[in-house]
Amino acid sequence: MGIVNNSYNYFLAICLGFYFEKKLKNVKKMKNRRKRNTHKKRLNIIRQKMQEKNVSAILVTHRPNVFYLSGFTGTSGFLLVTPEEALLYTDFRYLQQAGEQAAAFEIVKVESSIDYSRMAELLTRRALKKLAVEEAHFNLREFNLLKNAIPGIELLPLYNFFEEIRAVKEKPEVELIARAAGIADEAWQEVLPLLKPGISEMEVAYELEYRLRKRGSEKLPFEIIVASGERSALPHGLAGTRIIREGELVTVDFGAVYGGYCSDMTRTFLLGEPSEKQREIYNLVYEAQEMVFKMIKTGQQCLGVDTVVRQYFQQQGYGAYFGHGLGHGVGLEVHELPTLSPKGQEILQEMMVFTVEPGIYIEKWGGVRIEDLVVLCPYGLQILTRSGRTLVLG
Ligand code: ZN
Ligand code: ZN
Repeated sequence: MGIVNNSYNYFLAICLGFYFEKKLKNVKKMKNRRKRNTHKKRLNIIRQKMQEKNVSAILVTHRPNVFYLSGFTGTSGFLLVTPEEALLYTDFRYLQQAGEQAAAFEIVKVESSIDYSRMAELLTRRALKKLAVEEAHFNLREFNLLKNAIPGIELLPLYNFFEEIRAVKEKPEVELIARAAGIADEAWQEVLPLLKPGISEMEVAYELEYRLRKRGSEKLPFEIIVASGERSALPHGLAGTRIIREGELVTVDFGAVYGGYCSDMTRTFLLGEPSEKQREIYNLVYEAQEMVFKMIKTGQQCLGVDTVVRQYFQQQGYGAYFGHGLGHGVGLEVHELPTLSPKGQEILQEMMVFTVEPGIYIEKWGGVRIEDLVVLCPYGLQILTRSGRTLVLG
């Protein structure tokens, strides 16, 4: 009986093993198919835009754009997209990875990331006379090498070509950004009990980084900013050795990266009792942010939203102390389109993800910034940052 039972169990285990292995393979296949479809869809959008701009070949070198279009995460490689072809050029180190990650692309082996010879052959074969390049992402050496590699082919500079498309997110992208925002929230929550007078800015940054990483942040999207006391007047004051004391304003600006997507948030806090002025300025910044949350809608121009806050601070007598833009897009890069600043020409659209970060900075006194990450949904604004916004801690 025992033997029968054992062999039966053994048989069952093997069957189950096969079943789950098949199921896992199916899940993997489904995921790959979904990824390939995503990239094919993006390629279609790019090709449509190429047609509108009368571009017949485009070279993609900026890594976030390479990843967005192909899924390839290697550090060496570039893409060529024409109406018929989608090619990924990379060296031997990344051939296998490229094959696995960039299923919508044909992989071509080259010697290095500045070896344009294979691409030149193709352009010549197809008698293409113009090649569009991302002008903001080329250094002079690369530019000269490229020019020499394709004599007779005109280089057409493109600015923000992919970035404009990337500004409007797909649902899975928003989910990844929301997760990155969640990791930052959780890490902040864990650090709060450690914030006591006597802790240094660097210790705060370290404790935060440790927890961000532990909770799954793939890297830091930017160096953590911890600026205390007078230093809080520096909007981008990196954490230093300064000791945080009672009654000082402290600005902490940080984020996480998940699935390649970034988050970005800032909290300003104070240990002990705030002065009247500290409270007044904190409340002003808080009110300004609330105002934006209530008024923001699709169809508004970015600079208009920025102006509302700028005018509000002006009315309150602090117009000169808000020296940076109101916010910026966040995605594969921590600063991307749209730009909510006096120069922001973009029109806000559904599925744009950006920060709302008003701030007031007074030299030799201190500063306050509160920054939340938001997404514009069909039904309005959704705030992705969930951490509380209270000034006084402990
Ligand atoms: Zn920030
Ligand atoms: Zn920011």
